[in-house]
Amino acid sequence: MPIQVLPDHLIAKIAAGEVVERPASVVKELLENALDAGAGYIQVDIQQGGRRLIRVSDDGSGINQQEAPLAVTRHATSKLSAADDLTRILTLGFRGEALASIAAVSLLTLSTRHRDEDVGTEIRVAGGELMHQKAVGAPAGTVISVENLFYNTPARLKFLKAEATEKRQIATLISRYAMAYPQVRFVLTQDNREQFRSPGSGRLADVVVRVMGVEAFERMIDVYNEEPLPTTGEAIRVTGYASLPEFTRNDRTRIVLFINGRAVQDHSLVHAVTQAYHGLIDRSRYPYAVLMLDVPPDFVDVNVHPTKAEVRFQDANVIFAALQRAVRTALVLALEQSGYPPHERVHDPATRPRPAQGWQRPYESDASDASDTPYQDAPFQTEMGLTFDETSPRSTAEAPAANAPNDAPESAPAQRPRTLPVLRVVGQVGAAYIVAEGPAGMYLIDQHAAHWRLLYNAYQEALNADHLPLIEAETRPVDLSPEAARTLEAALEPLQAMGFTLEPFGPASFRLRTLPEFLSGHDAADILRGLVEALSADDPQEAITQHVSQRAALTAGEILSNEDMRALVQQLERAPNPLQGPDGRPTLIHMSAEQIAHQFSR
Ligand code: ADP
Ligand code: MG
Repeated sequence: MPIQVLPDHLIAKIAAGEVVERPASVVKELLENALDAGAGYIQVDIQQGGRRLIRVSDDGSGINQQEAPLAVTRHATSKLSAADDLTRILTLGFRGEALASIAAVSLLTLSTRHRDEDVGTEIRVAGGELMHQKAVGAPAGTVISVENLFYNTPARLKFLKAEATEKRQIATLISRYAMAYPQVRFVLTQDNREQFRSPGSGRLADVVVRVMGVEAFERMIDVYNEEPLPTTGEAIRVTGYASLPEFTRNDRTRIVLFINGRAVQDHSLVHAVTQAYHGLIDRSRYPYAVLMLDVPPDFVDVNVHPTKAEVRFQDANVIFAALQRAVRTALVLALEQSGYPPHERVHDPATRPRPAQGWQRPYESDASDASDTPYQDAPFQTEMGLTFDETSPRSTAEAPAANAPNDAPESAPAQRPRTLPVLRVVGQVGAAYIVAEGPAGMYLIDQHAAHWRLLYNAYQEALNADHLPLIEAETRPVDLSPEAARTLEAALEPLQAMGFTLEPFGPASFRLRTLPEFLSGHDAADILRGLVEALSADDPQEAITQHVSQRAALTAGEILSNEDMRALVQQLERAPNPLQGPDGRPTLIHMSAEQIAHQFSR
């Protein structure tokens, strides 16, 4: 056969194969046109899974009489003018080929009236041939009916899935667009039965409830995150809902993503969402999620594939990271809220620390300071970009009550205010450090310093509250130097107030009768020598508190179980002064996600 230019109707049919794969792809194109036309109401009527009829009616702008024939002509569009517009596409359509393609493989009727015109137009196209155009009376808006889809492409017809499958595809599609456009009322009927209706309230939550049911929705959390693009500083925003780790399924099909209002199928973005659940759900499970990404239009290239379901990004990593971070942050916050009762907000003056009894000035005044400052770490929280109070911008305005933060039962006991974000223990390194992950990056925790901080706080608090658990110690007498004995002798009373009951046993010998519970199992001689040393410090109470809590603390070299590490980290999260040991050295090193990325030159 000689080379020849194909006739138009064949070109159209070939092109149609790319755009119009199945009934659902027709529905998608018609929906996008209605949305581009600014519709507030879109009704979709389907017969026989779309084979017999697909009809989409909208109350959008409509098309004026002269332009109507152009609408069904290939490469005719009202949405693009110059080629450079392709870099900033704000409409769903732009290729100007959907209607022409659909018309090439069906019997298409377009009935439309432009809002500024009195008379409407009806156009009929069969297999790409314009059959007629006539003036009609019609409400403002557009109705497009597609009958006998693929009647003239038998191969395509053969490949159509079972009617039930097509019906399901269409229903899924409508529900997705309803979620992406919560301000638009969608109605879907299949074979004359209403199958779906969205309220058009503008609230995503309302649509998600319609699509997934209230029970499912209650097991989802809201995701909200906005961050600047590293390059231009324009915002990338991620909003929507994601399921709690307890609510999963065995495939990825319920991870629904939209970019700038366009439903996209992108493996790497779906992966970003599942990655956010790493360590929280089994590898074989997948979450439910409905997430909207809003990025600057020139950051994404939607002109990759005729169906526009695939997109490319200027920098896919940035999007990936933003999405993953948004979901992860929401999850970590939600887990915190479900795991803990509401935070104690008011520092009750009745529980103000009192100095331990038995010490005289000048020690007294100093003793109360350190533990009376549960909020002194606030700047640290801000530095990490997270403050854990109810006003934090985690929820969109339309966040439903079910997701409201801090609605744990009122009967729950008061908790300390949180001084660190929720951390997830990853593991232990060098038998000395705990690696943990938080919403703001990685934490390396010195197990000795952290445990020392906790014991120190606990000891000090117990003393202040006059509620120190003691144990009876039947220790053997400890021989000391005469000088050490004199030092102890002079401090018997205050030492007793700190939990150490000493019984003189001969001239320079003491027996320890009671000691603080947390020191159980420690060597009495060691303890007494430590007390003697501490008693010579400027502030003996502080010195003793520091000394004995350090003694009892975990040391480097101890291998910890996951349980132990978690317990330690959880306590540290609510400890006053969690960042420093009692001697002022750090308990943890924090590396933000940005710092880590920077280290990897990303
Ligand atoms: P595209 O959407 O890529 O521009 P289409 O073939 O889908 O191409 O539509 C061609 C043109 O027809 C659109 O640019 C628009 O002007 C007009 N059009 C199609 N559907 C509608 C509708 N529902 N309401 C108003 N105008 C429409
Ligand atoms: Mg279109």
